[in-house]
Amino acid sequence: MDYYAALMRHATDPDDLTVLAVAGVLAAAVDEGGTERLPIPGLDAEETHWLLARWFPDAESSLGLYFGASAADKQRRPSYDDIALVVLLKAHANPAAGTTTEIHCISHTLASACAGSKHLWQELRLSSRGELSALLNYWFPTLAERNVYGMKWKKFLYREVCGSEGLNLCRASSCGECSEYSSCFGLE
Ligand code: SF4
Repeated sequence: MDYYAALMRHATDPDDLTVLAVAGVLAAAVDEGGTERLPIPGLDAEETHWLLARWFPDAESSLGLYFGASAADKQRRPSYDDIALVVLLKAHANPAAGTTTEIHCISHTLASACAGSKHLWQELRLSSRGELSALLNYWFPTLAERNVYGMKWKKFLYREVCGSEGLNLCRASSCGECSEYSSCFGLE
């Protein structure tokens, strides 16, 4: 089954970037390991049920996405980095963008996607970096606006996590002199 397409048939708004990104993470999890991969790491079963009902009403029963509280025990535990990233995102969340519960769900969804190996917009199954930029500017505007040099988003977010904890893992004092430049900047 194409879970992404099936989820989107239940979407509250198929043009909403939040809906598209959440669908991307849910579908990637189920495609990879079935409903055993739910709930989303960092969210418990109840929160993931809530998220599904919020943005994809009736999708759970229609798609057979049954998982209970015990499923959370088998799920990948959020890493220290995941948790630190969620704390950072929430600290910059725009309260006018959504409810506290929505911000909680979106923050964990993004942190979960950051654990993947592809560019963040690809992990979210968005169509471009531009869509991801718009999504981050909507939910976390004060954080997004700090990416003034257009750093790759996942690199930027983790660098902000390090900075918020007083760490600096950069290999050079300036980006222009750094051997890692191409991994931090450029097309994504
Ligand atoms: S290019 Fe180098 S100095 Fe600049 S952010 Fe990346 S790792 Fe840090």
